[in-house]
Amino acid sequence: MPSYTFTSTANAFVLRGARPVFVDIRPDTLNIDERLIERALSPKTKAICVVHYAGVACEMDAILALAEAHKLPVVEDAAQGVKAFYKDRALGSIGDFGCFSFHETKNFSSGEGGALLINAPSFAERAEYILEKGTNRSRFFRGEVNKYNWVDIGSSYLPSEIVAAFLWAQLEQAEVIQSKRMALWERYHFALEELERRESLRRPIIPSSCRHNAHMYYLLLPTTSIRNELMEYLKSKGILAPFHFLPLHASPFGQQYWSGEKSLPITEDLSSRLMRLPLFFDFSLAEQDHVIESICSYFSSRH
Ligand SMILES: *Cc1c(COP(=O)(O)O)cnc(C)c1O
Repeated sequence: MPSYTFTSTANAFVLRGARPVFVDIRPDTLNIDERLIERALSPKTKAICVVHYAGVACEMDAILALAEAHKLPVVEDAAQGVKAFYKDRALGSIGDFGCFSFHETKNFSSGEGGALLINAPSFAERAEYILEKGTNRSRFFRGEVNKYNWVDIGSSYLPSEIVAAFLWAQLEQAEVIQSKRMALWERYHFALEELERRESLRRPIIPSSCRHNAHMYYLLLPTTSIRNELMEYLKSKGILAPFHFLPLHASPFGQQYWSGEKSLPITEDLSSRLMRLPLFFDFSLAEQDHVIESICSYFSSRH
């Protein structure tokens, strides 16, 4: 798995006694570098877990071929990738398992929560037990068994009906939500093109195989100190433009899984120069103009 991700990616495995092995990312998409996965494999490897950063797909053809060659399952962390595509395949539906998040920061939100997508039917039954606190209650409700019992590990992973209704209303409006987000994303992209040409910043790169979902608009600044200075400048203008993931391999808890001999140079470099811009459904064009103008005025005052 990449180190450049949220803790949930690693926790899912660590909670079951597995040990994450971190792989560096690609400089263009900030996704796991598929060319570095094979050398991270060992006879103990149980799965390959990829993260589709900012709703931009990993190089899934290469990753699936590698997984096939080594007979390993692929888990897609598509937390940020709901309604994004890789060559017309929805993210989260390509590997053996896909994970969505409906955390409040995602395109579709139930406050907290998520979904597991299962491609191999053989895992579906067990997933239902785990979801239902380790019982076969779902089978009982369908009339397949005449009582339900404790049959496996599990927990209270079900969202309540109220929470599900809150999410469902957004999924019914998915096209409206997505077109608004895409318009805001494109507007940033167009407005900041000139600054990229002058090498003041780098905009997101979307490979032609990907249809992203406008989950995030981020910038890469030339140095960490420029990034931090711009963040402070935007803060003084009332704009919250945060950085993003701190690499897991260097985190207080993640360090134990990292030998420390090697480094993950792309992960360390890009995470220290990245900044996210505000992008949400209710964001007005006037507010967005204020962000764009503030970024432009920061760079014109520097030169
Ligand atoms: C949001 C997110 C998750 C899931 O977060 P939860 O709060 O556990 O829903 C996992 N991976 C990535 C990359 C995320 O951005």
